[in-house]
Amino acid sequence: MTFAIQAARLTHARVPLVEPFRISSGAVSEKDGLIVQLESDGLTGVGESSPMAGPFYSADTPEICWAELRDVLIPALLQQQFPSHPAALEWINAQPASNFSKTGVETALWDLEARRQGKPLYELLGGTNRPVESGLAVGLYDTPAEMLRVIEKHLACGYKRVKIKIERGRDVELVRAVRGAFGEIPLFVDANGAYDLTDLHVFQTLDEFNLMMFEQPFTGSMLAESAELQRRVRTPVCLDESLETAGDVQRAIELGSFKIGNIKIQRVGGFSNALAIHDLCREHKIPVWTGTMPELGVGCAQGIALATLSHCTFPTDVEASLRWFRDDIVAPLIEVRDGHLYPSASPGLGFEVDEAKLDRYKVASIYF
Ligand SMILES: [Mg+2]
Repeated sequence: MTFAIQAARLTHARVPLVEPFRISSGAVSEKDGLIVQLESDGLTGVGESSPMAGPFYSADTPEICWAELRDVLIPALLQQQFPSHPAALEWINAQPASNFSKTGVETALWDLEARRQGKPLYELLGGTNRPVESGLAVGLYDTPAEMLRVIEKHLACGYKRVKIKIERGRDVELVRAVRGAFGEIPLFVDANGAYDLTDLHVFQTLDEFNLMMFEQPFTGSMLAESAELQRRVRTPVCLDESLETAGDVQRAIELGSFKIGNIKIQRVGGFSNALAIHDLCREHKIPVWTGTMPELGVGCAQGIALATLSHCTFPTDVEASLRWFRDDIVAPLIEVRDGHLYPSASPGLGFEVDEAKLDRYKVASIYF
């Protein structure tokens, strides 16, 4: 069945955060998300392009992605006639644009196809209707005491593990504080690439704390160094920023750079690549889990759908809407009950865009 996109809307939404989010390379106090709505034969599919504001997770920013979607991707998309859903995915994957921009369109195409087939998105992706374990992630704070207060407050929602951000000079002390306050809870650290092999002793000390993993100790390109670290510590190394393409994953597997993979739909350019990485890791018996930027509700609902796949074995970073945001643009809001997220069995994403809220939080909007 051939299809085309007859109309589209691109909206830049900005929602205030409950508290500033700080990691080793910067901080933000508002969340920007670019919502892509695509219309085809009376159905609307929704996607989200969700880079961090400020280039501190990757080089992509909301402004760069907005320009790519507005000037390049969406106008080109509207010229296409696709023989099939897979052909549309191949087309978007081949476009010369950033992964974050492509994700906005790619994920909307999946939602559209799921709605056309009358299936929930998780089913189209190969997942099942199962509760997904949610993990708490906390950023960097001025004092360990502040961090402990935030963890204590949110752990009451039943989150299944805790991940804390670390940076040089604020690492062992933070882990020791969490272990002191909360005992042997499932715990790990995310360095967002802030270290290198001169810090080996830090990771050897952290190795004594029975952590679930060390997430992205070194810069994305340092796969050989990451392999060296993995040979020297017991704790599994988890890669996030390093894994942009299936080729990166293959190379990291060959080098022995990691034992756990974090799959972010945004970072890899959408569901097709996320599924390819999921399958490659499964083939090599490397467990994976679903990360977040975090995205607004559309992206978070996508994360829940992906996390229902059988090989996503660790809790996801997707949290409740109101954990990070003062409000969200989906109905219902994303909720965590007893530490679990629940996919929706309605056709498509299962969480609808709340148009009134999208309007309230919009910075700009364009109809095509
Ligand atoms: Mg990470």
